Amino acid sequence: MEIFTVGGFNEVGKNMSVVQYKEDVFIFDMGVYLPAIVELQEQEVDKGGYSEKRLRNIGAVPNDLILDKLGLRSKVRAIFLGHAHLDHIGAVPYLAYRYDAPLYGTPFTTGVLKKIMEDDSQQIPNQIKSINPNSSIHVKGKSGTYQVDFINITHSTLQTSMIALHTPEGIVLYSNDFKLDDNPVLGLPPNYDLLKKIAKEGIKAIIVDSLYSGAEIKTPSEKIARALVEEVLLTIKNENSAIFVTTFSSHIARLKSIVDYAKKLDRDIYFVGRSMKKYVSAAIDIGMCPFQKDIYLTSYKKQVESVMKKVEKNRATSLVVCTGHQGEPGSIMDRLSRETMPFKFRPRDNVIFSSKTIPTPVNIENRSQMDKRLKKSGVRIFDNIHVSGHAGREDLRDLITLIHPENIIPAHGTVEQLTPMISLTKEMGYSAKNCHSMRNGERLKL
Ligand SMILES: [Zn+2]
Repeated sequence: MEIFTVGGFNEVGKNMSVVQYKEDVFIFDMGVYLPAIVELQEQEVDKGGYSEKRLRNIGAVPNDLILDKLGLRSKVRAIFLGHAHLDHIGAVPYLAYRYDAPLYGTPFTTGVLKKIMEDDSQQIPNQIKSINPNSSIHVKGKSGTYQVDFINITHSTLQTSMIALHTPEGIVLYSNDFKLDDNPVLGLPPNYDLLKKIAKEGIKAIIVDSLYSGAEIKTPSEKIARALVEEVLLTIKNENSAIFVTTFSSHIARLKSIVDYAKKLDRDIYFVGRSMKKYVSAAIDIGMCPFQKDIYLTSYKKQVESVMKKVEKNRATSLVVCTGHQGEPGSIMDRLSRETMPFKFRPRDNVIFSSKTIPTPVNIENRSQMDKRLKKSGVRIFDNIHVSGHAGREDLRDLITLIHPENIIPAHGTVEQLTPMISLTKEMGYSAKNCHSMRNGERLKL
């Protein structure tokens, strides 16, 4: 077999990997590089999708033209999607049409994908198939029929999968992204039994989220983030002040914790912003939004304005959950900070970032400018009420110990971020010929 590392091996974003076995080719993920998209958004106001050519020119999508050059494009039998984050599915509306192959993902992943395309009036000819977590499918190719398992794993969005492709030469396990969280607050815990089972069959290669392989930690459970949310909401002096919380719209477990403690404050809870609406309604559609009845969900301009007017009047009895934790231009928090909404912050109002600033120059700059504007109004900022969704070095050690793959391919970062994974595998007794430091556009014959 051969493995092609198409995107996500030089940067955090535009994830895409490809596996070839004889006459059959399989794609794992088609993501966007978000910093490039954010820059595009800053240049122009229009939404509703960009041209493929434009996105390729600025490096916002994986360079899958490599498959055309190698004559592999017509051999693609399936496109598998690991989870609902844009750096894993965001390029589907622009690239999937090039392949005569169906897309597979869990109900939440495919639901989010459909909402994104609806919202931007985009269409693709590919069939989109929903696969329940912890179940398997069979994909027919020219050189055989392949079992594919969607193994439930924990991350920072619902129904994330590790995907196991069974080939006659062994299993390829696509593990991008994940953390090992036995208390995920919402959704199923990691399926260690199934991982052990496929390990017995023999894992030929793992493509593994190594973003934090250099961090000497076990990434804390989401239950720790829940405790941080509890503390910031229930123990600060916030009577008579407004409370705004901004977080990742895709993080339904986090949203649940925020709602649970906001209810204890006896406040009306408003969810505001387009991406909030997309992800929360995708969760509602699959019956995984336990707080559905506790919130007002708004996204259209007029609704947003009337909510903000209400909150302005009833600041002591309202709590707003909104977009904008990275200072994204046009997001709700960005517009609030620019005072272009019918709500004005007052001294001692609270802005809680249940997030971490993703360390790219454009995000750092956006956040710092937004914070300056917020501080001018005298608001209290609570940053980093958050734990990561990515495995740390000690989680990675546990995973490798559990499934002992023959070959390891670190993914999801720059060379600096991925190199510590190579040193970890050496530490664990792997020989250099089984640990593969790969960049975008490379191929590996196994
Ligand atoms: Zn992710």
